[in-house]
Amino acid sequence: MDKHKVTLIPGDGIGPEISKAVQTVFAAAGAPVTWDVRTAGHTALASLGTALPEETLASIKATRLALKGPLTTDIGKGHRSINVTLRQTFDLYCNLRPVKKLAGVKSRYDNVDLVVFRENTEDLYAGIEHKVGKDAAESIKIITAAASLRIAEAAFHYAVTHGRRKVTAVHKANIMKLSDGLFLECARQTAANYPSIEYNEVIVDNLCMQLVIAPEKFDILLAPNLYGDIISDLCAGLVGGLGVVPGANIGADCSIFEAVHGTAPDIAGKNMANPIALLLSGVMLLNSIDARDIGTRVEQAISKVLSAGTTLTPDLGGSATTEDITAALIRNL
Ligand code: NAD
Repeated sequence: MDKHKVTLIPGDGIGPEISKAVQTVFAAAGAPVTWDVRTAGHTALASLGTALPEETLASIKATRLALKGPLTTDIGKGHRSINVTLRQTFDLYCNLRPVKKLAGVKSRYDNVDLVVFRENTEDLYAGIEHKVGKDAAESIKIITAAASLRIAEAAFHYAVTHGRRKVTAVHKANIMKLSDGLFLECARQTAANYPSIEYNEVIVDNLCMQLVIAPEKFDILLAPNLYGDIISDLCAGLVGGLGVVPGANIGADCSIFEAVHGTAPDIAGKNMANPIALLLSGVMLLNSIDARDIGTRVEQAISKVLSAGTTLTPDLGGSATTEDITAALIRNL
């Protein structure tokens, strides 16, 4: 099989440790990828004086395919989020986060199998904000029909091609009648083209309550950017936390795969990070390049290691190190 060149951004905090785990498991599984390793975030700022070096952008422009570790974003100050910049630069409009209960991972619920489709380029994440005098600030929420229609299309297309039954649009159109109202109009318009898929709408606060009471009621969640971000983490919490949930940012001709979690500064450099979320993001990458057989092998190894329950990282209630779990995964390939 031809090898695909993939840009690898190990990232900040636990990023380098979990990226190394993915590289090691992929090499052992014979994944058809060659890595073009590039920096971004605080790591790049410290070594190259910029958080998003030109070489990193040039690499993604060439490969159109990347696996990315988490990047630090300063709160209330500092440079603009590199994650947001990357999503906007490559027009990665679809943020796809499958959330599934994995055997062997302790969680409060058994029947969770849902997929979050989050619009990735606009909403309050457009980052248009300004001070109004000394004591006020404004953030502008942008919702367009073009962006809403394409994320809705992505969700419904996924539903019919992956045997899913229902799409739930998430909104607050009772308050934001124009912006969220437009998002809903676009979702309804798209739903009309997919009569085999059930469609409904839930207000975001009510959705949060229903998700913690009965998550099995939901299948595909279709959300604008900010609600999508928040419910993705909520959904991760339903299945055992951020260490086991993968993600992908998908555009028309470029994809960047990344875990949902952040840089975990509290455990960085301690060989304690769980690499499974990034590894499952890597499996999504393998599926996207038609290396599904190898992706399945890696996924099965993850399933065996988690089910055995003897080599779990501390976030999953065990005491294994990142290196221990990497070795266990390789033994189970
Ligand atoms: P976080 O996801 O880094 O950490 C939240 C909690 O989950 C911490 O207790 C952490 O130890 C734990 N955790 C996260 N990933 C884990 C893993 N793989 N294994 C074991 N435990 C794990 O969230 P935060 O603390 O809010 O954010 C820290 C930094 O990460 C911030 O700078 C934030 O901006 C950034 N961030 C980046 C991304 C991204 O690059 N996509 C996403 C979210 C947050």
